Amino acid sequence: MYSRYEWVEYSVKEDAVYCFSCRHFAKSAVRKGEILGSRTFIDRGFCKWSDQHALLEQHQESEWHQSSMLAWANFRDVAAGKQTSTASQLSAGRSTEVKENREHVKALLRATRYLGCQGLAFSGHDKSPNTENRGNFCAFLKEMTEIDDNLKVKMQRRYGHYLSPVYQNDLIRVFGDRVRKTIVDEVKVANFFPS
Ligand SMILES: [Zn+2]
Repeated sequence: MYSRYEWVEYSVKEDAVYCFSCRHFAKSAVRKGEILGSRTFIDRGFCKWSDQHALLEQHQESEWHQSSMLAWANFRDVAAGKQTSTASQLSAGRSTEVKENREHVKALLRATRYLGCQGLAFSGHDKSPNTENRGNFCAFLKEMTEIDDNLKVKMQRRYGHYLSPVYQNDLIRVFGDRVRKTIVDEVKVANFFPS
């Protein structure tokens, strides 16, 4: 299921499926006929296992979900330092938002680079939302809010802080790709490679 639907998040506790993309990147407005707090895949998990294939497909095809997937892809492009095709078409106001988001992603990348270089674990043992210690990644960013007011504002937004393990893995992958590319480039220009 995870390979077919990259957006699926599974809650062991609830034995239910959520949509990572819609939970974090969908527009905040509620769609017609829906009630905030009871949206399937977003506020409450999906657990009708007998109908799962049809309903997962239906969710995947929905316009709402597809726009959230675009926003998620855009986040990953920004994290990877790629220029987005839509960025050049944005209004001045939106450009400011994009600029702020890029600064925020830079802070996330800084935390990722620091922990990676030091060989430190990203998350802690206790993953419950109310835990006092959410691991090194969150602790590092929290420290940075002491000297970065913009980061502080972002971190206080419900879906604006991008701290979940899925984001952390995306950020680690960005560095992994960069390191691999650097090594490959160095090997390509080397006159010989010692065995
Ligand atoms: Zn979705």
